[in-house]
Amino acid sequence: MTAKLIMGTEIRETILEELAAEVKAIKQTHGVVPGLVTILVGANPASISYVTLKVKTAHRLGYKEIQDNQAATISEKDLLALIGRYNQDDSIHGILVQLPLPKHIDEKKVLNAIDPDKDVDGFHPVNVGRLMIGGSEVRFPPCTPAGIQELIVRAGVKTDGAEVVVVGRSNIVGKPIANMMLQKGKGANATVTVVHTATRDLAFHCKRADILIVAAGVPGLVKPEWIKPGACVIDVGVNRVGEKVSEKTGQKVAILKGDVDFDAAKQIAGSITPVPGGVGPMTITMLMKNTLKSLKFKLGMV
Ligand code: NAD
Repeated sequence: MTAKLIMGTEIRETILEELAAEVKAIKQTHGVVPGLVTILVGANPASISYVTLKVKTAHRLGYKEIQDNQAATISEKDLLALIGRYNQDDSIHGILVQLPLPKHIDEKKVLNAIDPDKDVDGFHPVNVGRLMIGGSEVRFPPCTPAGIQELIVRAGVKTDGAEVVVVGRSNIVGKPIANMMLQKGKGANATVTVVHTATRDLAFHCKRADILIVAAGVPGLVKPEWIKPGACVIDVGVNRVGEKVSEKTGQKVAILKGDVDFDAAKQIAGSITPVPGGVGPMTITMLMKNTLKSLKFKLGMV
């Protein structure tokens, strides 16, 4: 058996088209567009490339986008004041502070300063709490877990009553996706097990999974014999395992591998996400979705 590939690159395009159509309709009826500010502190090359991609996607959808670059020397007080100004700005519906921040700035303090109603990353404790309650309380599901759930739903994978095993318990992937999959409702209503570094027998749990979501950051951690035949495997891991020269640009690029042994796993699974091209493209897509949702809340549309 060869698994069906769940391509984030293709699903992203479908969602972006849906969002663009909604943005156009809202602009026509209400005369407003979603506004997103991305605050970049310093010049970390990885952060610059993430922010550039976010800005490009926002422009493509017709959002108002402000890229606010600040020197690495900005004080915590000034950064908090800057966030305070965007909190008050009615044309801004989403505020994103690109992490990591320089060491002299307390990341927690900064993230907690964002108005929860503009926290499109979904990291503010208020939004983490709303996610835990579930249902109509949820405002901004964090972007990577939201992308994982979209992939599962759009691939037509049955979640109702399914055994879901999540490998990893981080605050940005493992814990929120586990919480989302156990809620009542579409694309969820599953029986969820979370495994981590203290789990005694990883293989035992993984083998039971109808849906296996792996977010450990350990290349090839999940062995093919741990996969239940026909299971849906979502590989969140992005691990740089070397470098190669790109045929397209002639530049050196990283070789990326997931947490699952993809070539062997795809002979056993029913469906599987590749790395790259699976979960990765979904994160920014869901950031755009959350920013539009923020505007829709303001307009009383949701
Ligand atoms: P993290 O390091 O914060 O958490 C990893 C989790 O995996 C931990 O909870 C740990 O307990 C668990 N873990 C690690 N090694 C393990 C092992 N040997 N056995 C069992 N559990 C183990 O990482 P994270 O931020 O959750 O990210 C996980 C992976 O997902 C990374 O490769 C990261 O690059 C990737 N990621 C991708 C996206 C995306 O594609 N958009 C977004 C976020 C993270």
